[in-house]
Amino acid sequence: MTDSLERAGTGNARPVAVVTGGSRGIGRAVVERLAEEDYDIAFCYRSDGGAAEAVTAKAEAAGARVLSRRVDVSDAPAVRAFVDEVESGLGPIEALVTSAGIVRDRPLPLMADDEWHDVLGTNLDGTYFACRAVIMAMMKRRRGAIVTVSSVSGIGGNASQANYAASKAGIIGFTQSLAKEAGRFGVRANVVAPGFIETDMTGDLPPKVVKELFARVALRRLGRPEEVADLTAFLLSSRASYVTGQVFRVDGGMVI
Ligand code: NAP
Repeated sequence: MTDSLERAGTGNARPVAVVTGGSRGIGRAVVERLAEEDYDIAFCYRSDGGAAEAVTAKAEAAGARVLSRRVDVSDAPAVRAFVDEVESGLGPIEALVTSAGIVRDRPLPLMADDEWHDVLGTNLDGTYFACRAVIMAMMKRRRGAIVTVSSVSGIGGNASQANYAASKAGIIGFTQSLAKEAGRFGVRANVVAPGFIETDMTGDLPPKVVKELFARVALRRLGRPEEVADLTAFLLSSRASYVTGQVFRVDGGMVI
């Protein structure tokens, strides 16, 4: 049975997906991929309105209805208001991808409290706020799929990333708990854990560090955002209907 046949009778031709941090990098690739897969899309971003306009144009060209808003995911009431606006404007949310994330790398002895709190607030609290805002309606409708974006740093840690790794490890425990809670309501939740992906987040890495990274990666290259988006789209789709609570590395073979 196709997704659209399953949706017959709900009045919505296309499923609605929400993507946090959808204006750049991995989130942007997810928005574009889901638009190609016939979703209507709502996404939020923090500051870069120009990037948001560009991704909106691309998704609309693929036939999607698009709603984009400047919403800081660490602001719980703002996230709730955004989700309410999406449900009333586009329709019931069937898919959520939490990609909004930041780094503030610093060796632990030098780390400032605001570097800790900013990263935990955006990455972990932001994931929690977005999931909590959509989950009740998904469980009531017995329909929904969530993909949270962690990192290989959240699985194995990384020097100078204690704040980031803690947030990304937290996302894994959070998502697995959510999968256990929501599974009996037909709602799935999975984690993607990217390795080093070519985005603005990794754009500042010195060439020496990139060269060292390549040596640790079986495929000997950085990943592309589209390669994370492909797995994410699969996990949201009915093709992954018996997959929940799992963590999927997209890391080119850093650990085999
Ligand atoms: P990116 O290129 O820096 O894009 C980050 C996106 O998140 C932007 O759209 C940004 O919006 C948005 N954002 C940041 N803080 C936000 C906030 N407080 N509220 C709402 N939106 C916010 O990052 P990326 O590389 O695509 O990373 C996406 C996710 O993948 C992150 O969770 C990251 O931790 C994870 N990840 C990335 C890599 C990698 O190698 N790139 C590896 C592992 C995991 P503005 O532009 O408006 O600020």
